[in-house]
Amino acid sequence: MTKETLTIENITFTLERKNIKRMYLRVLPPKGEVKVSAPNFLSDEEIFNFVISKKDWILKKQKYIHENGIKAPLKYDNGEKHYLWGRPYTLQLIKNDTIKNVVIDEDKSMLYLPIPKRSTIEKRKNILDEFYRLQMQTAIPTTLDKCAKIVGKTPSEVKIRKMKNWGNCRYHDKRITLNLNLAKKDPECLEYVMIHELCHLIEFNHGKKFKKLMDKFCPNWKEIKKRLNE
Ligand SMILES: [Zn+2]
Repeated sequence: MTKETLTIENITFTLERKNIKRMYLRVLPPKGEVKVSAPNFLSDEEIFNFVISKKDWILKKQKYIHENGIKAPLKYDNGEKHYLWGRPYTLQLIKNDTIKNVVIDEDKSMLYLPIPKRSTIEKRKNILDEFYRLQMQTAIPTTLDKCAKIVGKTPSEVKIRKMKNWGNCRYHDKRITLNLNLAKKDPECLEYVMIHELCHLIEFNHGKKFKKLMDKFCPNWKEIKKRLNE
């Protein structure tokens, strides 16, 4: 396999020649880097023509990545940054069959993730998600206690789920569901979402009355909401 960096018509790309049958072109987040994989037998000219033929598509894709701040997909590998309660930690994998718990080193800002000797990205993600679930389960009782006193309402139960929204409240059975990823945000965010959902036990929709309740129970909610969605 050979690797080189080339430029044609203002498009810079890395070219990998390998023992493959057809050409591939990818535009990667977060920087919009262009990568081309080509079969060994193709000439430079054929490769350049292929890249030029894709120029419009490349520019469109790069624009999309930049405008939407698309991040590189997580690989759950050593050195990657992961968040817990708003703080960044560097991931370090521990390959073993004995240590079972995630270890956090606050001083070094390290997160040690125990994984089986062979593991896929999916498996590592699941192990870390289980850790986030435990963190949420530990944090919820105190947060709920505090927020229920502020709002004057108590839910029937609080569940944790992987979900699209940060939280959800079912009016008919008073059940609150919270997003697992809140464990990645600072604790004030969890409080804000909890208060928001508890307010739904008073006001069903997000109208004027609801906002008045939020102003009363969580005066800086607008600022926290902004931070939460960054
Ligand atoms: Zn709501």
